[in-house]
Amino acid sequence: MAFWGNKQEDQAQGGQQPSPARASAANASIEESYHNLIEAKGRAPGIDLAIKLSDLILEHAVAERASDVHIENQGANLRVRFRVDGILQDMLNAPKNTDIPLTQRIRVLAGFDPEPPTSFRNEEGRFQKMIGGRAIQVRVSSFPTVNGEKLVLRVLDRQQLGLDLEQLGMDQESLAIIKKLIRNPYGIFFITGSTGSGKTTSLYAMLKNINTPMINVISLEDPVEYRLDGLNQAQINAKTGFTWAEGLRTILRQDPDVIMVGEIRDYETAEISLRSALTGHLLFTTIHTINAPSIIERLFEMGIPPFLIASSMLGAMSQRLVRKVCQQCAQKAAPPSEAVVNEFIKNMDPVEAKIVKELILKPGSDYKVEKGCPACRNTGYVGRVGIFELMLMNEEVRKQVLDHSPTDMIRRTAIQTGKLRTLLMDGIGKARNGSTTLSEVIRVTATMV
Ligand SMILES: [Zn+2]
Repeated sequence: MAFWGNKQEDQAQGGQQPSPARASAANASIEESYHNLIEAKGRAPGIDLAIKLSDLILEHAVAERASDVHIENQGANLRVRFRVDGILQDMLNAPKNTDIPLTQRIRVLAGFDPEPPTSFRNEEGRFQKMIGGRAIQVRVSSFPTVNGEKLVLRVLDRQQLGLDLEQLGMDQESLAIIKKLIRNPYGIFFITGSTGSGKTTSLYAMLKNINTPMINVISLEDPVEYRLDGLNQAQINAKTGFTWAEGLRTILRQDPDVIMVGEIRDYETAEISLRSALTGHLLFTTIHTINAPSIIERLFEMGIPPFLIASSMLGAMSQRLVRKVCQQCAQKAAPPSEAVVNEFIKNMDPVEAKIVKELILKPGSDYKVEKGCPACRNTGYVGRVGIFELMLMNEEVRKQVLDHSPTDMIRRTAIQTGKLRTLLMDGIGKARNGSTTLSEVIRVTATMV
């Protein structure tokens, strides 16, 4: 990001752009194999070649840690892209060969008819495949673009999912706070974050951390993504009337200690959840907002009375994933100049701006800039780590809630009284210790400040 551009960083940014030659060399394997398969046609039936190609794509996807595989029919072209560490990368872009029915092969695996329906209907399927001795689950969705069918494969690799709280990437202080907080006998804790921010992983990690045979843990989910030992997980099914609210009412008759509600999006579910948090149950849930303080505003909008929020809420966490800088090629960087920091914080609330500035410029930093090498496919980054915004409640914050204050006021009060450490602050901490870069933290938190 040019904004943070000191000299070193500008050079690194320049080096980060992969040249076409390097990019194609890195992608050679799928592309090469595809051309080899085309040459083999005539010697083997087309369906065998399609099976080979789909296996190959999935093996690469697991090896490259891709979360999603996009298979795109674009007129006469076939394109395959992987999402790795949150960013899409081209793996294959070549003239389509109709003798190798790749799309049909995936459709059959997903349980669809080989050919897409003539009039659009929603198609979702899943299949499981053994790759490298591990069972990989794949969820498939089809979409009819004007240029041909697009399939998106969500790759669920249990091994990639670190389900220990210690593996999420929280610093020691936040980790200690969270561990204490999730041991409250009752109350409700909220997690927010965009799709793919790792909030489901965090929820599971928290449940796993407190789960013992002595307590009854029940979850309502849509969908149940992973099955955890010792947990009673249930799948929402709106068609049969097993809605969030109905599920929750049923759970409350099941003598629960800890309840996980996958998502709160309506008044009824919110109301039952908050009330049961007041009557001796510990609840964990996610809610869709851009940051932790906005959760309260969202509950106000749903019509939840302020006293119910103030008396049941334990705290809230918001999270994003940032890419970890490649330790093979990352270079040391000087902290940004004071002028650059002043420019960056100029529109922030003064209290927040002061903290952010001090945090960035505090001596003892180990800032890094990304460069690019074969180990990171020239992206400068390998893997991702969570950044966390943690908001806790105290007298002052509760008073703001009871006063029905706007989000800005709640946020400011929480920061001022030391009860809110924002995503940006946590991200700067991870840039300071060299796990990621400042530009990556700014990119990911840009919509928050
Ligand atoms: Zn590298």
